[in-house]
Parts: sequence; C-alpha cells; structure tokens
Amino acid sequence: MSSDEFSLYDLRVEVVANRGRMLCHEQIGDYFEVSGGRIAFPPGQGFPLYAMAALLPLLPAKQRDTAPTDWMTTDSDIACPDVHCGAVFRISRMGKRVFRHSEESGEPLGGPR
Ligand SMILES: [Zn+2]
Repeated sequence: MSSDEFSLYDLRVEVVANRGRMLCHEQIGDYFEVSGGRIAFPPGQGFPLYAMAALLPLLPAKQRDTAPTDWMTTDSDIACPDVHCGAVFRISRMGKRVFRHSEESGEPLGGPR
C-alpha cells in the first residue's frame, strides 16, 4: 500500500433468523451491503428503519480490523431492537477494499488528532 492508503472490510448485513414474529416485516434473506461510506440495497427491497438505526453504529467498527479477542471481532448477530420482534441480523465481513486518505478526507495526513 502507498503511504496514504488504508483498507476497510466490505460488509453484508442480512436477516438470518426469526426467533418469534417478524413485527418489522423483515424477510429472511433481506440484506444490504456496505462499502466504504456507501450502503447499497438490492433493487426493490426495503429494510426496517428501527433495525437500521440499531445496526448503523456497529458498522464502522466492523469495517475495521479488530483484535482477535475483541467482541467486535467474534460477535456478528444482532437482535432487532423491537423487543417483540424476533428478527436476527448478521453482519458479515466480506473482502477488504483499499481506499486513499486523499480521496476520502479533506484533512491533511499528519494534522491534529
Ligand atoms: Zn424487527
């Protein structure tokens, strides 16, 4: 990698199980993918708003390398935040993608931290 490159995992977030009623109208197999700062959905498929709100804070951490002993590395199943909904979502790390700092940030390298 050149001096301003870094890598992030592409992610796939998928509905993988139903532990009760799917009150948010999820369907097993519904998914979205994350690459860098972009989220992509399959054509015509939606995703529940409140589940999305619960998943979003985890995604930047899952995109980055984490220690093998970190729970962020080992845990990938997330329950729907609606206590009455049985949906389970899985965040899977896919391939890594290389980005350039100069193309992703307006801040210079070596600036304040
Ligand atoms: Zn739900």
